[in-house]
Amino acid sequence: MTKVIQERSKCIGCGSCVAICPKYWGMEEDGKARLKNSIANAQGDDELEVKKAECNQEAADSCPVQIIHIILK
Ligand code: SF4
Repeated sequence: MTKVIQERSKCIGCGSCVAICPKYWGMEEDGKARLKNSIANAQGDDELEVKKAECNQEAADSCPVQIIHIILK
């Protein structure tokens, strides 16, 4: 399994992750990107478990503030 984590409070809303990986990312009305179907973890960040990172890796690589993390378990 793979974990995708977004430190959502630090998102600057550039839209890069949404453009690169719309299967998993969308823009919300507050101007920040949302990792679809994610849940808040103990640290208060948004987290989603997936089988493979897929385009989330490219989304993480493209994030200008580096707040998308891919963790291989
Ligand atoms: S690429 Fe990073 S800063 Fe830009 S919208 Fe996505 S999470 Fe936010």
